[in-house]
Amino acid sequence: MADFQSLDYVHCKGCRKTPDAIPEYVEASRDCDCTPTQYVQQQEGTYNPKTGQFWCTECYIKAGMPLGQA
Ligand SMILES: [Zn+2]
Repeated sequence: MADFQSLDYVHCKGCRKTPDAIPEYVEASRDCDCTPTQYVQQQEGTYNPKTGQFWCTECYIKAGMPLGQA
């Protein structure tokens, strides 16, 4: 079971930005008719539901493209 904090505070593990502050997710969420946060939770492969963290593309590359969840 996810704790409430992870649902409330989805953010990039690197830059700590929330999805609605990252243009790529704002744009992608327009196509899926959901919020940027929902888009990350549903589509982002690095999203970790236990911690609420993910890698945005920029940080993912900076981190050396780690496999699996953030
Ligand atoms: Zn980032």
